[in-house]
Amino acid sequence: MSADIRRGEMLYEGKAKRLFGVEGHPEWILQEFKDSLTAFNAQKKGSFENKGRLNRDITSLVFRFLASKGVPSHRVADLGTNEMVTEKLEMLKVEVVVRNVLAGSTAKKFGIEEGTPLEKPLTEFYYKDDALQDPFISDEQALMLKVCKTQAELDQLKTLALKVNEGLVEFFGAADLRLIDFKIEFGRRLSSSGLGQIVLADEITPDSCRLWDKKTGERMDKDRFRRDLGNVKESYEEVFGRLRDHWSKKLV
Ligand code: ADP
Ligand code: UDP
Repeated sequence: MSADIRRGEMLYEGKAKRLFGVEGHPEWILQEFKDSLTAFNAQKKGSFENKGRLNRDITSLVFRFLASKGVPSHRVADLGTNEMVTEKLEMLKVEVVVRNVLAGSTAKKFGIEEGTPLEKPLTEFYYKDDALQDPFISDEQALMLKVCKTQAELDQLKTLALKVNEGLVEFFGAADLRLIDFKIEFGRRLSSSGLGQIVLADEITPDSCRLWDKKTGERMDKDRFRRDLGNVKESYEEVFGRLRDHWSKKLV
């Protein structure tokens, strides 16, 4: 397929990806995964060689795995070393976080020790707006902000997010990684006749998940960068290596 795909004009440059049009395919975009790494709403910046490639490869494995579990995503095909062709979606202005174990800002907020397991997974909505620093929002606030059309759609996001969680616990678990929490984004398929289907979009990577080694408890995700723990590149490489070894031959 790659021979047919020609990069069009740049549509957007974000913190971790650049988006381009695809010549002759207005229904697609080309997502280039960058080597840059940011934290705390881009107040902290870094990068490492091959990061874009690792995150593209990890996202590709995850989306292929989730597709096998009946969770549709925007992925169309991988391209080159660090690009993915995806459907162009109307993104919902919400970040959905699922937590299995309390960590990060939420553990701090409630004064509960980081690493405390939750009896059942928590789903949370954050308003996707960098200028406002992605604030936490209630369901009613999400509807007021028109993140979704109806409460039923918000409920659909939670159901989908829990299904993604179930899949990811298995997916990362098989690579001896414990899924602590993660953030996902959704978009609506463009449709000329009414509301398009809501599908999983963006990326699922160690940038957007907390992953702890099952045996040692060591952090294997962006917290290594956020908290200056060192070996950031090595951890991303280890995560990909384990996932590739377990999953690449099992997925189409
Ligand atoms: P940010 O915008 O937070 O800096 P990125 O650098 O990852 O993040 O940029 C990717 C952007 O592309 C995000 O704003 C994301 O919501 C958007 N996006 C992801 N998938 C799609 C898609 N299929 N169609 C349109 N936009 C998308
Ligand atoms: N997360 C993300 N992007 C964000 C905020 C959070 O990918 O803009 C991910 C983060 O990596 C973690 C999960 O979502 O895996 C929950 O993050 P939390 O709300 O605890 O954020 P913190 O403030 O602790 O980084």
